[in-house]
This record gives sequence, structure tokens and C-alpha cells, in this order.
Amino acid sequence: MRIAVLGAGLGGLSAAALLASKGHQVDVFEGNSWLGGKSRRIELNGSYVDTGPSLFSFPGVWQRFLDQYDKNLGNKASKELANLELVPLGSLGTYYFQDEVVSLPVKQHHRLFDQWGTFAASHEPLLEPITDLLTTDPSLWGKDAFKLMKSTSKLVSKYKLNLTTEKYIDGHKWMDDKLKEIIKIHTLNAGVSPNETLAIFATMAAIMANNGVSIPNGGINEIPQALARLVEHAGGKIHLNEGATKLTKNRLTTDQDEYEFDVCVSSVDESVLKTLLGNQKQPAGSYSCSGVAIYASLDSALATDEMHSVIMPDKPSEMHASLGEAQEPHETMTFLNYYPKKEIYPGDFHSAAILLTAPANGKDYDLETDWVQSQLEFIEKRIGASLPKFTDYKILDPSYFSTLGTYGGALYGKKRPYWVSGPFHQPSYKKSSWLYRVGAQVHPGGGIPAVLGGAMISTARIK
Ligand SMILES: Cc1cc2nc3c(=O)[nH]c(=O)nc-3n(C[C@H](O)[C@H](O)[C@H](O)COP(=O)(O)OP(=O)(O)OC[C@H]3O[C@@H](n4cnc5c(N)ncnc54)[C@H](O)[C@@H]3O)c2cc1C
Repeated sequence: MRIAVLGAGLGGLSAAALLASKGHQVDVFEGNSWLGGKSRRIELNGSYVDTGPSLFSFPGVWQRFLDQYDKNLGNKASKELANLELVPLGSLGTYYFQDEVVSLPVKQHHRLFDQWGTFAASHEPLLEPITDLLTTDPSLWGKDAFKLMKSTSKLVSKYKLNLTTEKYIDGHKWMDDKLKEIIKIHTLNAGVSPNETLAIFATMAAIMANNGVSIPNGGINEIPQALARLVEHAGGKIHLNEGATKLTKNRLTTDQDEYEFDVCVSSVDESVLKTLLGNQKQPAGSYSCSGVAIYASLDSALATDEMHSVIMPDKPSEMHASLGEAQEPHETMTFLNYYPKKEIYPGDFHSAAILLTAPANGKDYDLETDWVQSQLEFIEKRIGASLPKFTDYKILDPSYFSTLGTYGGALYGKKRPYWVSGPFHQPSYKKSSWLYRVGAQVHPGGGIPAVLGGAMISTARIK
């Protein structure tokens, strides 16, 4: 079959690799000049750093993805082609919350060590069921329906009627209130608050911390580069700088040419897809959060030698309320990623990625913007040290993220009801007999694993 894939982010590339390996004639159309979409490599201080995602989790999903590719091609070429050297990070992060500083997993001798141990150990058995859910077609009538039910029942017996992250964590009466908030903050991985996500997001935090997270040596953009090699090895073609402008049954118009196809797989945002199909209306509803991401080379080392720190607002519920109204929160949640010289990136400088959770307001931000300044001051207050001077920097803001096609720069598209958040998403993989969907807009939350798993599920439906 001739298959047109829209977008060369992680969603489009992973779908294209699987479809090409099944013998289809695959063409990927990407409006921008780079591979990776939100995972973009940018020039900084004469070298480069990678933007967008920073943590690689659930390696089992990546392995299943590669196994599927190899099975389709009938060989074992994928590992060598992908050639990812994963560098394990010591922890999921160090969390700064009010006067508490704690790493996950919690280190021995910390006052929360025992509580975390109890919580994490009770969620460890859910690693396999969640990996299954991330890679299994959620159709109750599909061939994997039994596996789906088995995995789901393990989760249901864990959460019982406490279905949201908020309700589930609050039900742990023995747990310290600060630890509760630190676990709950992970629902921002889906861009929404703890009462808008399934309890599974609490488990994901435990699994990611105890199972370990990593980053490819060279940076996370090595993943889309690897996927592109898999696409091309299987005979697929990637057209960069060639954006789709119109889509009808069997015909794709780009800004350069027209193509006939049998099936189209879209990884672009729902609103972009609707425009391509001729419906100009913005889909109604409220949207997940956006970000103001500062990437900087530093004139000296950061005071903390942690690679990944999380600075939490003193009142997380106020932050969620502001983000829900597309307003800037007084204090926001920030990821502070630190890369010492020559570690991960080849550049001869220390670098940092400061990712401020921001409302999906489509606005431009700079270092001088009052809100950015106040958040940087808040970070310094929490880590108890000044940030080093920036020798070079770039900012990606909601206005930038909206150019990738998401309304207001919302990182995970439109909000969904909590019961279809994460792996239980209402899939809408198939929009019609010729149009399928993949990517973070269909698989909110879970980031890279959800996108890879979603591509496995969606492309398996294309016979
Ligand atoms: C700041 C940040 C931090 C994150 N941190 C993590 C993390 O640590 N771990 C994790 O697992 N996940 C993380 N994520 C989430 C992860 O990056 C996303 O889930 C994933 O990159 C989404 O991939 P995608 O292919 O669905 O979307 P995108 O990357 O947005 O790809 C869509 C592509 O479609 C293209 N496009 C749009 N319109 C058109 C058109 N008309 N024609 C052709 N092409 C078009 C766009 O240019 C883009 O390349 C993070 C995201 C961000 C932004």
C-alpha cells in the first residue's frame, strides 16, 4: 500500500518505521527542517543541545517496538541500526518542595525513605501490566483483548474505586503530605492536574523512579535520528521542509507537490488535521499546559550536581487552577536539567535546560519577561544558590510550540476526561477507512513510551 505519514516527530517516525518494515511504500511529510518535532536539536554556543523531552523511561516499550520492527523485516537489524547508548540517570530527580529536598527513589537515611519504599514496592508488580497497556490495542474486540483485561484487572484491584491520582494518593492516610504532593506532581507529564488523570500516573512515578530513567548519549534527539534510520533502512522516504496543506481521500497536497496514497497516518495535532481536511473550526474544549523552555550554556558549574531537579510550587493546587484557566501561575513547577561539560553533549561547556510549566496561551516569552524572572528567582531561592551566568541561550515558548501545530502551544493537545487519560485513552486511531492517527495528541501523557506504543497499536490496525 502507498502510505503518507504526516509529521516527522517521534509519533510519525515510529509509525513510518513499522509500516515500512511491513513492506508498505511509506512517505513521511514534515513541514519543518528537522527530525524529531518537539524533540529538536538546536545550536548553542557553537555546539548543540537537544530540546523537548529529556527522560527516556519504560525501556521495555522501546524493546517491544524494536522487536516488532525486526519481526516485520524478518531479521535482527534494529539494535545495530538504532545504536542507542542509554546512560542511566542516578534518580528520577531531586524534588524541592517547600522546605523538603528529596530524591526519587528516596535515599537511605532520609525521613521519607521507609514510606517511599513501601509505596514503590507495592507498585513494582504493575510495571509489566502498564508496559502491556502501553503497547496493546485497547479494543475489547481485538486479538489482545484477554491480555488487556488481565492487565486492566491488576490495576483495578490496586486502585479499586480511587480512580484519579488525587483520590488514590489522598487515600494513603499513612503517607506524609509532602510525599503525596511530590508523587502527584507527575500528572504534569500529561499536562494536567491530579484530579484530571487516572491513578496510573501515581504508579508511573514509582516505576520510573525505581526502574530507572536514562538519556541517550549525545542527547535525546538520538531517538528520532535512530527512528529515521529505521524508516530509511526499511525503504521509507522522509521529505523534510514539505508541509501538508490539504488532505482528501487518497490525495495529499503539500506546499510542493501532490501525492496519491491508499492510507494516511497523521501525527499532527487534531486542530491541524481538521484544517487540512477543510474544517477551519478550532476544536472546543480546554487544553493541557505548555512550557517556557530555556536552554543555556553556563559560565560555571551549577551548585547542584544532580542532572534532573524538580522545583515545585509551594501550593500545587493554585498552580493547577491557574494553568486550567490559561493564566500564569504565581509559582510554577520547573524541571531543571543540568549537563556537566562533556557529559551527554559534546560541547565544551556546562549547560542547563530550565523548563517552566506555562499556560497554553500562545504567547512569546524572553528572559526579561517579569514572569520568567520571578520563576528564576524562585528556583534560586529553592536550590539555595544563584544560577550561573548564561553565555548563550535560546527560549522556546508557547508561541513556538503552537507553530508545531498545537493550539496555544498545549504540549498534549486538548484535555480528555480523566478516565481516558494515559494508556486508557479513547484512541481515535482510525478516523475513517483511509485515515489513522498516532502521536502525543492521541496518547496524552506518558511521553515517548506512549507515542511508541501508540504507533505499534495504530499501525497494527492497518492491514
Ligand atoms: C518541554 C518538553 C518536555 C518533555 N519531556 C518529556 C520527557 O522527559 N519524557 C518523555 O517521554 N516525554 C517528554 N515530553 C513529551 C514528548 O516530547 C512528546 O510526547 C513527543 O515528542 C510527541 O511526539 P509527536 O510526534 O506526537 O509530536 P510532535 O513532536 O509535535 O510531532 C508532530 C510533527 O508534525 C509536524 N507538522 C505539524 N503540522 C504539519 C503539517 N501541516 N505538515 C507536515 N508536518 C506537520 C510538526 O512540525 C512536528 O514535527 C516532553 C515534551 C516537551 C515539549
